[in-house]
Amino acid sequence: AVFDNLSTSLEAVWAKLRNQDVLTKDNIKEPMQEIRRALLEADVSLPVVRKFVKSVTEKAIGTGVIKGVRPDQQLVKVVNDELVSLMGGTAAGIEFAKTGPTVILMAGLQGVGKTTACGKLALYFKKKGKSVMMVATDIYRPAAIDQLVTLGGQVEVPVFEAGTNVKPAEIARRGLAEAKKKNIDVVIVDTAGRLQVDRGMMDELKQVKSAVNPTEVLLVVDAMTGQEAAALVAAFNLDLGITGAILTKLDGDSRGGAALSVKEVSGRPIKFVGEGESMAALEPFYPDRLASRILGMGDVLSFVEKAQEVMVQEEAEEMQKRIMEAKFDFNDFLKQTRNLARMGSMGGLMKLIPGMNKISPQQIADAEKSLKVMESMINSMTPKERGDPELLAKSPGRRRRVATGSGRSQEQVSQLVSQLFQMRARMKNLSAMMQGGSIPGLGA
Ligand code: GDP
Repeated sequence: AVFDNLSTSLEAVWAKLRNQDVLTKDNIKEPMQEIRRALLEADVSLPVVRKFVKSVTEKAIGTGVIKGVRPDQQLVKVVNDELVSLMGGTAAGIEFAKTGPTVILMAGLQGVGKTTACGKLALYFKKKGKSVMMVATDIYRPAAIDQLVTLGGQVEVPVFEAGTNVKPAEIARRGLAEAKKKNIDVVIVDTAGRLQVDRGMMDELKQVKSAVNPTEVLLVVDAMTGQEAAALVAAFNLDLGITGAILTKLDGDSRGGAALSVKEVSGRPIKFVGEGESMAALEPFYPDRLASRILGMGDVLSFVEKAQEVMVQEEAEEMQKRIMEAKFDFNDFLKQTRNLARMGSMGGLMKLIPGMNKISPQQIADAEKSLKVMESMINSMTPKERGDPELLAKSPGRRRRVATGSGRSQEQVSQLVSQLFQMRARMKNLSAMMQGGSIPGLGA
C-alpha cells in the first residue's frame, strides 16, 4: 500500500541511532541521508526533500537532551512534527459562502477522478446535512454528463445539465441561478478535463470561474502521478487561482510523494483525499493523521511529548526558586524565551489565553521580534556575564562589546540590563507578597 516503503525505510533509520546517547551533527548524518533517500524514493520532489532534511537536522540537534528520551525517539518526534508542518500543519477545511450557495468549482485533467470526486463531495456534504446540487459543464463528452447524472442518482443529489449546445460558463450560471431559487447550500460544478494542460481548457475554466465566483476552486490530482501532481497544483494555482487540491487514488500503490509535496510546492493545501472508487471513499486531509500513518509510532510520540512537558515543568519550578531568591539572570531569561519557542509560536500561545486573543498579529510580531533582539544580545554575552548581570551593569566597556557583537546599539544593551534588574525587583516584591500571604491593596 501507499507509504509502505517509506515507513519501512524510516524504521531502519531509527534502528541506526539505537546505541547513541545524544543526537549530534555527526551521528545524525547517516540517518539523515537515509531519510533523504527514502523520501526521494517515495517520489517527493527534490527541493522539498532538501528543505525537509535541513530543517529536521537543525531541529534534531537544537532540541537538546530530554531526560529519559532516547535519541531515536527524539528524532521520530522531530520527523513527525516536520512532516505535519510540511503538509500544512492543521487540516484546511472547506470555506463556506457567507450568503447564498457555496460554489465549489472542480478542475482537473482527464482520468484523475474528477467526476467521481464530485459525487463523493456531494455525498460528503449531504451527510453533513447540507442540500447539494451538481452542475454538468463538460459539453465535449456526453458520456461525462451521463456519468455525473448517474452519480447524482447514486448519492441522491440533483444534477443540473443543459445538454452540449450551451457554453460551459452559461450552464454554470444557469445552474447557480437554479440553485439559488431552490435554496441549495452547496453547488458543485464539474468541468471538462483534457489529457494535458492546454490554453483552451484554462480559458474555459476562467470563464466558468468568473461566471459563478466560486468559494472554492479545487484541483483534482491523481496520487499515482507523484511529484507531477504537485507541479500541476502549482501550475493551476498560478494560472487559474485555486483554493486547494483533492488527491485521489491514495488507495492504490502510489508512493505517496504527492501527499508530501503539494503544499510545499504549490502553497495550496490538499483538502480531501480519495481512497477508493465508492462514493463514500473520501476523507478530509489531516496532516497529523497522515504523518502518524507513515511513522506508525503514535505511542513514541506521546511519550516524547510527555517527557518534554515534564522537563518544561521541572525547569519552571527551578526557575521559580531562582525568582524567589532574586537570582534570575540572563541564562534564565534565555531559557524562558526558548521555552516559549518550544511551546509553539507566541501567536499560538496567546490564542489559548482568555482575553489575549484580541492582541493584533502586528503586536505579536513585534513582541516576537523584540525577543529575537534580546536573544541576540544575550548570545553575545560571556557565560560569566549571563550568570552575573552586575558585571554588565557596572562596566560600559562590557556593554559596548555586547552591542558590537550583536549588532545592536549600546542603548539597547543598557535597556536590556536595566530590564533584568527591574524584573528581579518586581519578582522579589511579588514573592514577598506571596510568602506573606497578602497582597497590599487587596486587604486581607
Ligand atoms: P475524470 O475523467 O477525472 O472525471 O475521472 P473519473 O471520475 O471518471 O475517474 C476515472 C477512474 O478513476 C474511474 O474508474 C474511477 O472509478 C477511478 N477513481 C476515481 N477516484 C478514485 C480513487 O480515489 N481510488 C481509486 N482506486 N479509483 C478512483
